Amino acid sequence: MNALYEVRPEAREFDAYVPGLSIEEIRQKYGLANIIKLASNENPLGVSPIVEKALRDHAPEAFRYPRCGNPELNARLADHFGVPVERVVTGNGSDEIIDLLVRVKARPGQDNVVAFKPCFSMYELCSRMCGVEFRQVPLAEDFSFPFDELIDTCDENTALVFITSPDNPTGYTATSAEILDLAARLPERAILVVDEAYVDFADEPEQRSVLPHLAELENVVMLRTFSKAYGLAGLRLGAGVVPGWLGEMMRACQIPFSVNILAVYAGLAALSDRVFYQETLRVVREGRANLAKGLAALGCEVSPSQANFLMFRLPEGSPEARQAFEGLLARGVIVRPLASYGMPDRMRVSVGTRRENDIFLKTLGEVLHG
Ligand SMILES: *Cc1c(COP(=O)(O)O)cnc(C)c1O
Repeated sequence: MNALYEVRPEAREFDAYVPGLSIEEIRQKYGLANIIKLASNENPLGVSPIVEKALRDHAPEAFRYPRCGNPELNARLADHFGVPVERVVTGNGSDEIIDLLVRVKARPGQDNVVAFKPCFSMYELCSRMCGVEFRQVPLAEDFSFPFDELIDTCDENTALVFITSPDNPTGYTATSAEILDLAARLPERAILVVDEAYVDFADEPEQRSVLPHLAELENVVMLRTFSKAYGLAGLRLGAGVVPGWLGEMMRACQIPFSVNILAVYAGLAALSDRVFYQETLRVVREGRANLAKGLAALGCEVSPSQANFLMFRLPEGSPEARQAFEGLLARGVIVRPLASYGMPDRMRVSVGTRRENDIFLKTLGEVLHG
């Protein structure tokens, strides 16, 4: 190979992230006018009207740099979470915070990061790109979390342990008591990262989130995002509550201005719009129950979910998931096949509006029964 093209060996090993298909791609490919996208767990209600107004009002400021470290948003989040502001880290999506955690905490060539399999792809991407060993523990048959095996996989060089609860793509959710017990049993150096991207949608978020317990925990990080319940996926805004000593270091190592000025204003507006937030939770919880019922009626095996999506397996004797996925696409419905998560016989569907859910169920019925 030409010496000019020599790069870090880690960089050579990656395949590009394969996102869900976009509405525009499907529209062109199949010549369809109406497309329903239930593939990326986005907010079924779209953008809050209060956020939209904030974006319009502040658009003229887009030529300015944001305030470095977005202190106003961090203070607002500290208030929202009930924690000291030193413990709040915000980023360009929680993706950036995951990346920061690995870069700040894990020593390349020496440390390891531990997670379940399957898991959110960012944990592996960031670890491997940092030259950090990535270890995975398979989920149990019923998709519950085998915490004993997770602990057995850790050693004195484990820097971070990631869990997602509610889990993506399975929907499985641990209780906060189980997570606290896990945190207490990890090796001394290890930090437990609890990715709560979907915890808003749980029936009893207080029983599920680690937030009420963070004050007593020195080795736990909680991640939240504005991409799901707050409807800001396209603006890229995530937040973490981390131990105080770690927060200072993470903010110091962060690329300046990674949270853009409109994301700051949108985040503040989103936190203030409790009506939109509560309506989102209502629509998702109601839609989740209706979708689960409808999928079961079609003969699908539906995994219980506390998130804004459902994972399911098609009935015995139906077309393969890949084929059913293509059949749905050709009829203008985009869901997420789970082959890339190592589950070729399952699919994930995001909870949409009532109308979207009904169209999805009707279309799946056509695909399955002709
Ligand atoms: C959607 C999702 C996120 C959110 O990521 P952002 O970068 O904040 O958009 C985080 N973790 C998991 C597991 C997710 O599914």
